[in-house]
Amino acid sequence: MKKKLGIIITVFFITLALLIAVTFNVMLSEKEQVFFIYFILVMVMVITTVRLFRWLKSNVMIPMEKLGESISEVTNGNLDHILDQDSDDELGEICQGFEDLRIKLKENRDSRSQLERENKELIGNISHDLKTPITAIKGYAEGILDGVVTTPQQQEKYVRTIYNKADDMARLIDELAYYTKIDTNRIPYKFEKVSPVEFFYDCVEDVGLDLESKGIVFTNEENVSDRDIVIADVEQLAKVVNNIVNNAVKYMDKTPGRICIRLLDDGDFVRFEIEDNGKGIDAADLPNIFDRFYRTDTSRSSNTGGSGIGLSIAKKIIEDHGGKIWAASKAGVGSTFIFILRKYQETEMNDE
Ligand code: ADP
Repeated sequence: MKKKLGIIITVFFITLALLIAVTFNVMLSEKEQVFFIYFILVMVMVITTVRLFRWLKSNVMIPMEKLGESISEVTNGNLDHILDQDSDDELGEICQGFEDLRIKLKENRDSRSQLERENKELIGNISHDLKTPITAIKGYAEGILDGVVTTPQQQEKYVRTIYNKADDMARLIDELAYYTKIDTNRIPYKFEKVSPVEFFYDCVEDVGLDLESKGIVFTNEENVSDRDIVIADVEQLAKVVNNIVNNAVKYMDKTPGRICIRLLDDGDFVRFEIEDNGKGIDAADLPNIFDRFYRTDTSRSSNTGGSGIGLSIAKKIIEDHGGKIWAASKAGVGSTFIFILRKYQETEMNDE
């Protein structure tokens, strides 16, 4: 727009000059005419030069200066410096390209520093979670060595505690190893066509006996067609159900504890629900419980043996299945964990 205006004004002045020259041609002497033409030419050159300079300044020099400033800021590591330009010519495109590059670099840097922060947090958490059982094992072993334990019953109690603590440590290490594998996509999924109803009843059978032996009232509901199919890795999906059910047991604070597993038809999806009447989760914690190493008990001193990994593993598995997982909960009342998986359509097979 500005460019066009500049050209129009310049052409206007040249035309005006020629018009005046032609008009004066009849009135002035030859010498005066030459002088007048020179004068007009000089005027036209001055005006054109001023306009050209202005155009160069606003369209080339200023953007170049801004681009140069931005390049040196980015080179010096300041990725927050915004290159502010609004022209849409070639130089504007170069500036926009550089600005896009800066934004990409900034995003990369931010995600890298978040990863570093998470890794530091992870090392801190692991150290703490391993230190607690190790301190206990040392304490009980010292007790035996110092001869504090005299009766066979006491001895059995001490050895059993050492065994349980070592078991906690092994579980934590297994979970960490599994998490690292799944987080870096080193778990090869064995996806296959699975009947959600069959999978559901296998789970019910698996967890049912275990829950009843723990004195928990266990119920199940199901309303999905036998013909429905999902594409899933049953072993990994069972891990999701186990992690959620284990949490329901771990955070159970009522007698009798109740856990209900449901498989529901949800249109194009099948929906798994695992409901408990445990201690529930505060609304402020609810959005974070699927983050890795997030625990509502921030002191990490409880005896629940939680590492904050179980739900992040569940989320990763469900998302790798193309599904969604979330939770609803009321502190003091209980929680429901829900995940959905898309039903397999025969046409998907034909499309492949
Ligand atoms: P953890 O190993 O600590 O249980 P998870 O990732 O499985 O780690 O769970 C994260 C946190 O979410 C837990 O520390 C706990 O505070 C909360 N949580 C998970 N499931 C339940 C539940 N059924 N009832 C109450 N709180 C729960």
